[in-house]
Amino acid sequence: MEKLELKSVYKDYVQGSVKAVIDLSLSQKEGELLAILGPSGCGKSSTLRMIAGIEDITKGEIYLDGEIINWLSAKERNIALAFETYALYPHLSLFENIAFPLRIRGLKDKEVRKEVKRIADMVDLTPALDKLPSEVSGGHQQRTSLARALIRPASLYLLDEPLSHLDTQQRTEFRVQIKRIQKTQNLTMLFVTHDQLEALALADKIAILNLGVLQQIGTPEEVYEYPENLFVADFVGEPPMNFIKVDLVKEEEEYVAKLYNQKVKIPESYKNSIGKFYKGNGTEIILGIRPIYIYISESAEDQFISGEVYVFEDIGESGILTVQIGENLIKIELDPGYSFKLGEKINITFNLEKILLFDPTTGERIKPKLPKSTK
Ligand code: ADP
Ligand code: MG
Repeated sequence: MEKLELKSVYKDYVQGSVKAVIDLSLSQKEGELLAILGPSGCGKSSTLRMIAGIEDITKGEIYLDGEIINWLSAKERNIALAFETYALYPHLSLFENIAFPLRIRGLKDKEVRKEVKRIADMVDLTPALDKLPSEVSGGHQQRTSLARALIRPASLYLLDEPLSHLDTQQRTEFRVQIKRIQKTQNLTMLFVTHDQLEALALADKIAILNLGVLQQIGTPEEVYEYPENLFVADFVGEPPMNFIKVDLVKEEEEYVAKLYNQKVKIPESYKNSIGKFYKGNGTEIILGIRPIYIYISESAEDQFISGEVYVFEDIGESGILTVQIGENLIKIELDPGYSFKLGEKINITFNLEKILLFDPTTGERIKPKLPKSTK
């Protein structure tokens, strides 16, 4: 069943001069972890606040468990929240802050202690429970806010950048904890982040927003492998996808993209979509390829492209090689153990099956026709 459904939701501020969310429709299934991902200012928090009921909905409808909730106050919606700004009660200990939702529901003291201990262990807060918010770090406060949200049963859990005040190592640890809690208790969770790695690591599905507009919603694999447009292709993945403008030509009824000294045959499955796009020889198209799908060519028989080493970054678990080819800088992600000299000549090959094609005018991906789906 759909747990949450947004139907053509808009959010304006300042009498409509700020359009924070535009015609947003999406749905989330029970037990799903959905991440809303996008750059700062793209409308993530506005969306969450409308779902929570702490911000008016300018237009559109929001359904929870099949019932419209537009007119319900925040208190009347069975939704738990943890926000980036933690909003803790300053005069209460961390323990009492976490216990708060249980106290107002009238749980017995023994029950409260048990539950607070359980959740505090999960987010590693047990030693600090007696302290006041002002006596602990931002990271502790954020974990308290998270624990307070997770402690009570709710129909939906909304987390707005819940890990933003933690250091990198803690973030990775709590990411795991959140996912465990969400999966073991089958919680429906909507998680906001600007960090694409966090979204890829955590979410069952990712909704990507830009300038208030939904760009794509899909599984991490779908948004990574089959981005709908240049924005998604560029925003998801680190290091980002390489984009190269190339000319399209038609040779004996086949479309070919001229990639430097190589001619890349466009597969048969693209015939229809490219046919519509093609405006004669020299039609410009954008070819996208991820750094992990480009390889150093070692055998002389490979069809390779020559370039020069522009820079090499050894980042431990992998190496990022930037190669200059003509006017383009192409990034390649390599296994550890390589080293290069600046300016060194190098031959690379592209995994042609992983090349994506984009319309430079609209930014939309040009899709092949596959028997199964629209991918
Ligand atoms: P995000 O959480 O993705 O960073 P927000 O939803 O906070 O984005 O903001 C979306 C847009 O709405 C931004 O341009 C922001 O400046 C604007 N905005 C957010 N809240 C308000 C407000 N209370 N009044 C006016 N503009 C706002
Ligand atoms: Mg925000």
